[in-house]
Amino acid sequence: MVDIRANVKRVKERVAEAALRAGRDPSEITIVAVSKNFPVEAIEEAIEAGITDIGENRVQEAEAKFNRIGRVVRWHMVGHLQRNKVKKALNIFDLIHSVDSVRLLEELEKRAAQRGEVVEVLVQVNTSGEETKFGLKPEEVEGFMEIAAQKEHVRVLGLMTIGPLVDDPEKARPCFAMLREIKERVEGMKLPNVEMRHLSMGMTNDFEVAIEEGADMVRIGRAIFGPRG
Ligand SMILES: *Cc1c(COP(=O)(O)O)cnc(C)c1O
Repeated sequence: MVDIRANVKRVKERVAEAALRAGRDPSEITIVAVSKNFPVEAIEEAIEAGITDIGENRVQEAEAKFNRIGRVVRWHMVGHLQRNKVKKALNIFDLIHSVDSVRLLEELEKRAAQRGEVVEVLVQVNTSGEETKFGLKPEEVEGFMEIAAQKEHVRVLGLMTIGPLVDDPEKARPCFAMLREIKERVEGMKLPNVEMRHLSMGMTNDFEVAIEEGADMVRIGRAIFGPRG
């Protein structure tokens, strides 16, 4: 049996230790518990243990869980979002971490405008250069932000990246440092409607290194819910 309560406690301790090592205030860091492939009961246990933010990577799966749990937590879309799922996604998610193309940005703008809302997003960057990963290339980010700055119904609040699949988390550090540098560059552009408030980076294998490099949102699945089958 996986003890979700004990896992949440331990993850919180590890997050706090990493923050303090980096001279940061642990309360700045949001733990997004990524519950993909785990049942709604597991999410309920995590909420009882103090989790306030839930991440999912597929709209359909998130919808079923959202209908059971509702708005007692904030919902984060962390996976690749297809344009034909945007309408549904806007019913569920408080923050979309994975905006990775102008076409998706345009669809979000259109659908959010229809609802008379502003959708909050992060822009995903492929910092590892791995072909299989979604995300803008680092050199595409500034041009993308100039387009995003003109959207009335999409608000960029930061950046997201997925570290490389490596055995040693230290090997992910350059990717996280790169995302922080891109953040600083975008801040220097001083664009309207584009705020670099969040850096979403770090998962079970590498969240401590990500926090040391400036993450304020870590997306953690297995360290909370146990191994995914
Ligand atoms: C699955 C997933 C996570 C969590 O991964 P763990 O290794 O289980 O912590 C984080 N971010 C994204 C985008 C994911 O798909």
